[in-house]
Amino acid sequence: MKVLVTGGAGYIGSHTCVELLNAGYKIIVVDNLSNSKLVALERVKEITGKELEFYNVDLLDKVALYQVFSNHRIDAVIHFAGLKAVGESVSIPLKYYHNNITGTLNLCEVMQAFGVNRMVFSSSATVYGLQEDVPFSEEIPLQTTNPYGRTKLMVEEILRDLYVSNQNWSIALLRYFNPVGAHPSGYIGEDPSGIPNNLLPFITQVAVGKLSELKVFGNDYDTHDGTGVRDYIHVVDLAIGHIRALENVLNTAGVKAYNLGTGTGYSVLDMINAFEKVTGIAIPYQIVDRRPGDIGTSYANPTKANKELKWVAHKGIEEMCKDAWRWQSYNPNGFDTKVKHKALK
Ligand code: NAD
Ligand code: UDP
Repeated sequence: MKVLVTGGAGYIGSHTCVELLNAGYKIIVVDNLSNSKLVALERVKEITGKELEFYNVDLLDKVALYQVFSNHRIDAVIHFAGLKAVGESVSIPLKYYHNNITGTLNLCEVMQAFGVNRMVFSSSATVYGLQEDVPFSEEIPLQTTNPYGRTKLMVEEILRDLYVSNQNWSIALLRYFNPVGAHPSGYIGEDPSGIPNNLLPFITQVAVGKLSELKVFGNDYDTHDGTGVRDYIHVVDLAIGHIRALENVLNTAGVKAYNLGTGTGYSVLDMINAFEKVTGIAIPYQIVDRRPGDIGTSYANPTKANKELKWVAHKGIEEMCKDAWRWQSYNPNGFDTKVKHKALK
């Protein structure tokens, strides 16, 4: 079984490649390396002891994409490739719409030309917008607050239209909550460029001494300690969710949305405490104003994925923090770290 993974060199993509190879799939990765490094895929090969094929191709280059499909008999596609920074999407919306939507249209057109109609798509809990009632179930009305979120919502709708036009399509829309952590080997992990926007990479960079203190965005939310609550999900659990979704789309038809989250929310202070407990490193922090656009509480109702995909997230916040720290401490400069880290033979 051959699976094409777009964006497979990125954070979630590389972890999913590990699980795909471990599960016996052959994989072809297409990535333009705009937000990732090839070394991530070298490490995927080291972790698994298996090979994969890589094409440095931009989804906006339809001719090159067509060539990839000509070279392989592809059974299904897992589609991660996209730009993902919310703030940046507000500053350069056209780039986001072009990359995420035109890129997906090209992919679907080429898939259609080759009769490939099984897809797992990276959507996001951002499609639930500023909803107040938690937990979020797949059926609640969708709304988004920024161009990045709108690209996810629009692609979901495009994929639904595609199915209406041809019922041979089988598509899973995976709405991720807050992916964190790293592969337990410490070989691969999240490598944000510049100052991280997300909580856990910020914490690990404070711990490693690259940043001086964490700013906690608000402590006046209606939560148990006033700080924002999120559904953090270990990236390995998330990657395994893609294998379950792939099995599902290979054996069914339709377009189905699934929340991939644990179903439990933790606050910013809960995460700081868990990190300090498992690493023994104090994280200095300061409470500052709320971050514009943030909601107080977000967590998933993951029942549908639990039942239909037979998938459940197993790893708790301590394991998330421990694995995130192993990755950061072995690789202080992410994939640019020159010295071979302890885990590498
Ligand atoms: P990432 O940036 O690490 O990975 C995305 C990959 O896609 C990168 O390797 C990038 O080089 C590649 N890419 C981007 N545009 C491309 C194009 N036009 N052609 C070819 N390759 C291209 O991001 P990630 O965190 O691994 O996220 C993967 C997907 O999941 C994205 O679609 C993202 O929007 C979605 N998602 C991520 C999160 C999160 O918190 N990380 C949450 C919800 C949804
Ligand atoms: N957060 C914070 N300081 C930071 C980054 C994030 O206090 O430097 C908070 C943020 O307000 C939210 C939670 O941590 O309550 C998770 O934020 P993240 O950006 O990781 O995810 P998102 O808000 O996109 O769900």
